[in-house]
Amino acid sequence: MSINIKSPEVETRESRLGSITGFGGTAGQLCSSSRNGKLCDKRRSFSQCLGCSSGNALCQLVMIQDAVVVNHAPIGCSADFQDYNFTNRVGQRKRDLPLRNVRLLNTNLEEKDMIYGGIFKLEKTVEEAYRRFNPKAIFVTTSCASGIIGDDVEGATDKLQEKLGIPVIYISCEGFRSRIWTTGFDAAYHGILRKIVKPPVEKRKDVINVINFWGSDIFTDLFGRIGLKPNYIVPFSTVGQLEKISEAAATVQICPTLGTYLAAGLEQEYGVTEIKSPPPYGIQGTDIWFTELGKATGKELEVERLIKAEKNKIADPLEKLRRKLEGKRVYVTAGAAHGHSLIALLKDLHMDVVGAAIFHHDPCYDNRDPRSDSLGHVVKSYGDIKNFDICNKQPFELVNILNKLKPDLLVARHGGMSSWGPKLGIPTFLMGDEQFGLGYEGLINYGNKIVDVLATREFVKNIASHCELPYTDWWLKQDPYSFLGGEHNDQDS
Ligand code: SF4
Repeated sequence: MSINIKSPEVETRESRLGSITGFGGTAGQLCSSSRNGKLCDKRRSFSQCLGCSSGNALCQLVMIQDAVVVNHAPIGCSADFQDYNFTNRVGQRKRDLPLRNVRLLNTNLEEKDMIYGGIFKLEKTVEEAYRRFNPKAIFVTTSCASGIIGDDVEGATDKLQEKLGIPVIYISCEGFRSRIWTTGFDAAYHGILRKIVKPPVEKRKDVINVINFWGSDIFTDLFGRIGLKPNYIVPFSTVGQLEKISEAAATVQICPTLGTYLAAGLEQEYGVTEIKSPPPYGIQGTDIWFTELGKATGKELEVERLIKAEKNKIADPLEKLRRKLEGKRVYVTAGAAHGHSLIALLKDLHMDVVGAAIFHHDPCYDNRDPRSDSLGHVVKSYGDIKNFDICNKQPFELVNILNKLKPDLLVARHGGMSSWGPKLGIPTFLMGDEQFGLGYEGLINYGNKIVDVLATREFVKNIASHCELPYTDWWLKQDPYSFLGGEHNDQDS
């Protein structure tokens, strides 16, 4: 088991799981090199942009409703504050929670702090956070600046915890520590496992932890029909709820890229069964996921009935959608496991997935169990995927590939990537709610939306005719992987 909750810092994905951000080839090739221990991370000699671990830690922690986050950083590291606030307020409205802004403070590290140290500012900010908000816990996230000057954040948070009498938790998520920004999810969960979660007092056999982002609530209904209750973590939970996640019967995750660390940590430390299966997207993944959940909770019969009823419900609309979408060429861009899930879903709609730009690749997850291999599941169930690009965003590669492949549709999970589709005249579907495509009903939701999006073809062509790309013809004629070790890729033209 790869999790050491005694250490103040989480181990990065690169060293813990061997994760990579550079690959061009087919999904099948990626799976076999992951299995054979031959996975190499190819470096780019030119790189445009990356995400940052700090952002991924913040986007989970700021949505714990009665906690405060102090970002020990220059003010620019909190620049995406408004994104979290928007997501938080939309989620609060959906869940009938009191509407309020996220509680995120920044220590505003400046030039002189780089010389004299920033701990004094950190202590003052944490005390101010406590005075203003009276939170149940304070998380302190670090940054490149605090890491470079070597501020002893763990020492300071320990002292502040003693003084204030609430958990004050060091979250080590300096941007430079990892090129894989999902290390930030792991850093946030590491802090929660170390300092928030308590040993179980009583086991709650009907409660299932659901590690998710901030999507809509579909599990209250689905689980209710098999006698279970979802406990959504981490966004929109409270510190009190998180203290008790060790009491749940099992943990499921809608995306192992997000939840690998927390699910495995809960099983390792407190014996909470992690459901080890591909994520519940597409028919086969959903079958396996629910069946495993049924086995773990003694609800096999209930699950069998649920699967049958849900499949009957979608049979006719699914056939109609398949007739409309059969053979339409689609390109996917998304984070790792969620991207794999979207491919499964699109394949079940009988679409032709011509390629994908996936933001990193984990050759395994923290449970080290091959049943959780989301990409392996896709390749085994639906066949290989050509033009499979592992890129930490890198829009220059995406534009080059889209321009060559000219798919009928771009499916994107991240706003920054979706804008390139219309600029190239490609109808584009951006979906932020991860629960929208989940389960059997998710196929119908997605299929209907795709039919609508495909009808925008003339509209996006018009947009493209008024757009000037920042990329020259020279670049568009190059191999998209020219800067990735110059390796040639199997283009499907
Ligand atoms: S932590 Fe580093 S990489 Fe992240 S936003 Fe701040 S300066 Fe940028």
